[in-house]
Amino acid sequence: MSLALAKRLEAVQPSVTLAMNARAAALRATGVDVFAFGVGEPDFEPPPFVIDAVKRVLEKGGVSKYTAVTGIAPLKQAICDRVERTRGFRPTPDMVTVSVGAKHALFNLAVALFEPGDEVVLPAPCWVSYPEQVRMMGATPVLVPTDDVSGWRVTAAQLEAAITPKTKAVLLCTPSNPTGAAYSEAEMRALCEVLRRHDVWIIVDEIYSELVYDGLAHASPAVLAPDLLPRIVLVDGVSKTYAMTGWRIGWSIAPSHLAKALDTVQGQSTTNPTAVAQHAALAAITGPQDEVVKMRATFEQRRNAMIAGLNGLPGISCRTPEGAFYAFADCRGLYGIDFNGKPIANDEDVAFWLLEKAHVASVPGGAFGAPGHVRFSYATSEERIAAGIAAIGRAIESASRTAKKG
Ligand code: PMP
Ligand code: GLU
Repeated sequence: MSLALAKRLEAVQPSVTLAMNARAAALRATGVDVFAFGVGEPDFEPPPFVIDAVKRVLEKGGVSKYTAVTGIAPLKQAICDRVERTRGFRPTPDMVTVSVGAKHALFNLAVALFEPGDEVVLPAPCWVSYPEQVRMMGATPVLVPTDDVSGWRVTAAQLEAAITPKTKAVLLCTPSNPTGAAYSEAEMRALCEVLRRHDVWIIVDEIYSELVYDGLAHASPAVLAPDLLPRIVLVDGVSKTYAMTGWRIGWSIAPSHLAKALDTVQGQSTTNPTAVAQHAALAAITGPQDEVVKMRATFEQRRNAMIAGLNGLPGISCRTPEGAFYAFADCRGLYGIDFNGKPIANDEDVAFWLLEKAHVASVPGGAFGAPGHVRFSYATSEERIAAGIAAIGRAIESASRTAKKG
């Protein structure tokens, strides 16, 4: 007999984004006014008609029972309509699995697809949960590094070189968390050309697809390479587009035989996502979409403010991201600053220093596979962005004054 934890977990790290969020929340609980540049969570309330719809549904009743495992029929229909409208093909409802957030949709996919011996190609830096979900299944994440010189985008040649006979899937995220980089149509076509030559699953995390700026269009493999649809899986949800992170509704669109496996995985783990939350998601995606347009415009202004602010600080530089709500800044210029008697030596030190000295929450880039950088979320007001940048500026200035005195 053994009380040991499963070996499978030995290689798995806890979520750094959520850990940094908890740290910032703990500091806030002591009365400190913390700048929320850490977790990627829109500060808006969802559109008011979503809350009204939920009230109506609750008053009417009938939302306290299990639903179909993969979601209520009207929501699945609405997701199919949305995909038809925005991705140019109409999935059948049996291809849709509604889950407890996009993170859960990705986890179900990992359970259904990955096993020891499999490799999963992840252009890096990438969201913290991708490699850990792959590892949890005993499979191997293959990180393909990109840098800010290449705009944080993997090239067709890099992708080609990363695919081996063991590759089970390639997971693309555009616009990206943590860099905000989005592929152009031509770049995505070139990646699809590579993927066409290899029999691998193509998982596309499109959770930020509504948040692309400067009039650019989202480049989806589903649109650009419809011939690959038999092995494309689209992942999306309401968390970012409608500022509904806490409602926990996401989904995948997968070929029917894979969706059937996802139904089994979900049916043996969580059953359906919360019924009332599904109604909230239904209201969000079927209601007027002007709030989304407004939020996008606001995020674009915030991006401009955040990037200009960061680039105005000594020791920090940041390329302008095309989408999402993250600035992924090179912070190596801050190395050497004294932090309680020791010089800052890496991005984790920078993030802790920012929290302690400027009360700015952020996430160290190493967590995403790109040390030397720090991710700042700009899902907060322009006033808070300006004040947070000013606080960082003061912390840098006071550090250099102390250094000069020393
Ligand atoms: N994918 C990416 C790239 C993300 O940044 C997130 C963060 N929320 C998710 C998926 C998961 O979203 P949720 O589970 O809130 O739907
Ligand atoms: N995806 C968001 C982030 O990267 C939310 C936290 C999480 O689920 O990781 O900050």
